[in-house]
Amino acid sequence: MDIVPVASGVHLLPGAVNMGLVESDDGLVAVDTGLDKQSAKRIIQAAETLGRPVVAIFNTHAHADHFGGNAHLLKRFPQARVFAPWGDAPIVEQPLLEPQYLWYGAQPFAALQNKFLLASPSPVHERIRPGSTFTIHGVDFATIDLPGHAHGQVGVRVNGVLFAADAYFGRTVTDKHGLPYMVDYRRTLESAEQILRTSADCYVPGHGAPVSNPQPEVTHLQERHRQAFATVHHLLRDALSVDELTAQMCDAFHLAPASPSAWVLLRTTVAAYVAAAVDGGSVAATIDRGVLVFHAVTSV
Ligand SMILES: [Zn+2]
Repeated sequence: MDIVPVASGVHLLPGAVNMGLVESDDGLVAVDTGLDKQSAKRIIQAAETLGRPVVAIFNTHAHADHFGGNAHLLKRFPQARVFAPWGDAPIVEQPLLEPQYLWYGAQPFAALQNKFLLASPSPVHERIRPGSTFTIHGVDFATIDLPGHAHGQVGVRVNGVLFAADAYFGRTVTDKHGLPYMVDYRRTLESAEQILRTSADCYVPGHGAPVSNPQPEVTHLQERHRQAFATVHHLLRDALSVDELTAQMCDAFHLAPASPSAWVLLRTTVAAYVAAAVDGGSVAATIDRGVLVFHAVTSV
């Protein structure tokens, strides 16, 4: 059972999804709760080891692998209060919204309702306004607005540790995903810059190892997205639907999504590049015989 101290009163439970435990006057504040019952059990065991109850949960964003442990953790600590970003809180409360938005807003078919896309619902007691600082049982949490990977994502800085959510990833994680998931290209790049502007002694990404200087990993992610955006623009010399473009991006970046879940995540990322290009005026949308297609109208 790994409990890694990263600063005074701040512990990390490292894993496929990192989770934090912050000591307060009355007990522990969990920063994200992982994917499911198993990750919640890790938090419960850590709380027992530290001899303190969990009194609050802070979710950085409403992806199932970051709040999926809430419901189980709340069974063990029913008094714990849940804090979530204002923009993402509705999904924590109504998790079906996640596979719904990934499936064009329609009712998602069963294969899209797995635990990686659909978490158990959790109450949200406090909605955190963007840019605000809040205090939980005597500990100050400064939030940093980090939209892009999720619309309402926020990071949180406490005792010199920045929990950066999925605003950047460890290098190997970025390389494993090829095109890391995001919903807004411009904001993803801006939030990466925001990480570099935010001073902290220790930076903890949602996926990857904690570091004292995140610049190489942040830059690696930015370069990957910029390269992908340029590739999208290049491919759209031919008019393509988002689905066709997704297939061509798979070829260009050697990706092979192996499930409908993996595919809708990738398609959403590709759609985000396209939206940024359309809003930037370099790509136009038209409908050709019932197919929504996109084509480059200027060079980038
Ligand atoms: Zn995420």
